[in-house]
Amino acid sequence: MRNQLSSRPPRPNLNPLSLPKLALAGRAVLTFRNLSEGSHMTVKIKQLRDKQDRKKLLPIFYVYISLLQDGRTGMEFAGTLFQETMETKLGRGVQADSRLGRALNWIVSAIKNPEILRGRVGLFHEGKCCKCGLPLTHPESIHTALGPVCLERMVAAAQREEFNFSEIFKPVESI
Ligand SMILES: [Zn+2]
Repeated sequence: MRNQLSSRPPRPNLNPLSLPKLALAGRAVLTFRNLSEGSHMTVKIKQLRDKQDRKKLLPIFYVYISLLQDGRTGMEFAGTLFQETMETKLGRGVQADSRLGRALNWIVSAIKNPEILRGRVGLFHEGKCCKCGLPLTHPESIHTALGPVCLERMVAAAQREEFNFSEIFKPVESI
């Protein structure tokens, strides 16, 4: 029984097209699983706040990556992501050609073009809202990784840019 359970790969719970919105939602924790190799990495992307006015969010994110199989431990600071240019600055001591440096580079490419995940890399959330970090308690949040209030806020903000949210949160079974 135990073997049967562990040999079945987990089913991704997020549509890859949601990556650009979720990754930059504020407090994202996302796991990427290479579907052919079975390897995975967990990424934490935290938005910075203005030092004087803590309510003011900056278009700057710290990216932490865990390349270990145990996603809880080993979060390492990989670098800073600047949303306006989508350019990165590597963390102190992080080499561009190291595993961490290459992982950061790949993540930014995937945020820019989530199509590269399709059929190759599964995207998972950890049961926490990618915007505020609180545990997800509503069943419908399973496909969005956002609590109802945070989702509503993001949809309202995206209306100005005519963004189609139902498209990116189509359950993975149907794509
Ligand atoms: Zn939330």
